[in-house]
Amino acid sequence: MYSTPNPAGEGRMKILLVDDTPENLVSLEAALVGLGEDLVMAQSGKEALRYLLNDEFAAILLDVRMPEMDGFETAEMIRSRPRSRQIPILFLTGYRNEEHLFRGYDLGAVDFLFKPIVPEVLRSKVAVFVELSRTNAKLRQQTDALRKQAEELQRAEQEVRRLNTNLEARVLERTEELMRSNEELQQFAYVASHDLREPLRTVSIYAQLLAKRYQGRLDGDGNQFIDFIVHNAERMEKLVHDLLDFSRIDVRGMDFFSRTSCDTAMDDAIGNIQPLVAESGAVITRDPLPCVMGDAVQLTRLFQNLLVNSIKYRNSDVPRIHVSSKENGDEYLMWVKDNGIGIDPQYAEKIFGIFRVLQPRDRSSGSGMGLAICRKIVSRHAGRIWVESALGQGATFYWTIPKKG
Ligand code: ADP
Repeated sequence: MYSTPNPAGEGRMKILLVDDTPENLVSLEAALVGLGEDLVMAQSGKEALRYLLNDEFAAILLDVRMPEMDGFETAEMIRSRPRSRQIPILFLTGYRNEEHLFRGYDLGAVDFLFKPIVPEVLRSKVAVFVELSRTNAKLRQQTDALRKQAEELQRAEQEVRRLNTNLEARVLERTEELMRSNEELQQFAYVASHDLREPLRTVSIYAQLLAKRYQGRLDGDGNQFIDFIVHNAERMEKLVHDLLDFSRIDVRGMDFFSRTSCDTAMDDAIGNIQPLVAESGAVITRDPLPCVMGDAVQLTRLFQNLLVNSIKYRNSDVPRIHVSSKENGDEYLMWVKDNGIGIDPQYAEKIFGIFRVLQPRDRSSGSGMGLAICRKIVSRHAGRIWVESALGQGATFYWTIPKKG
């Protein structure tokens, strides 16, 4: 076996040569100098042990026969120290007897070289051990680097975990906060609209009384002012009424949920708005609608609000409204399509807000709560609602309801 020497001297390894005879050391040195490694020479076991205290060696060449501490004793000391336990030892000896060899192998010898030493054999054997040691050192380095990376990763991981936990806690906190403020808002809307109704009614009644009693005794302006008061009190009553309605939607518990036929809900809705349908001459056509888990009163309200809008926001044509549905994966998709004035797509989202209207308010205009109520009903049924439309093109309101409620 032959290994390439290390002429560039990069990452030189140390080899310890131990022999009590200086001439032997010189010839060992001469044989090994071509390997390009660092050669350290010791003339006794003790001296060798001293070197081994401070330095790392790739291999030790150890003469067996030395005065004071012989090669075997030295090897025993080397093996007893954790720092030097793994270093390969090559014994140099003149004896070929078996007992000798066994003792050496027992002490961890990796090889024996018999005197007279053949320089080429010595060089190639040492080169193998040096190469092994170099590979080992590299492996150790790589293992260390890997361990370091793994440690860093684990840190990083802990940081990610910590941040995640933080984030989760914050999301939870924010959700709780939002729910709290939502509930508070809801309660406020409920209480405010409830409590406002009474004084409003009083204002309205007294204004009407005033109008009746002083009829003819007031000048034109006076009559008009009273008319304003009555009209605006009525309007405010309607707003408050609708706001109360809106805030009541979520208050109804799940007890009101049952298997509900959307066909029936739609029939009821048409029944409720019969005068408007008749007066407008609206033509309402329909396909079969599904049965869903829902709140029948609210679903009727949903159809009613959408149908009223389809008639209210008609153009000069007779209102034609078509109601239909289809299965869409694990939900039902339903829609109300009309041939009315349509909606500019830029307002497609806005119209679902509270008190949002697109037309200038007049005496007959609504409170702008109709679609907000629709959205609340649909989201209470775990669905979504949206509109697809363009100005002058009619409007189609879509909504979904999960099949499994
Ligand atoms: P309201 O009808 O009381 O004004 P809604 O919340 O029901 O309030 O509707 C909000 C606005 O959306 C309406 O003022 C109207 O401008 C527009 N809109 C609703 N439905 C339709 C429709 N089918 N066609 C055209 N515009 C509509």
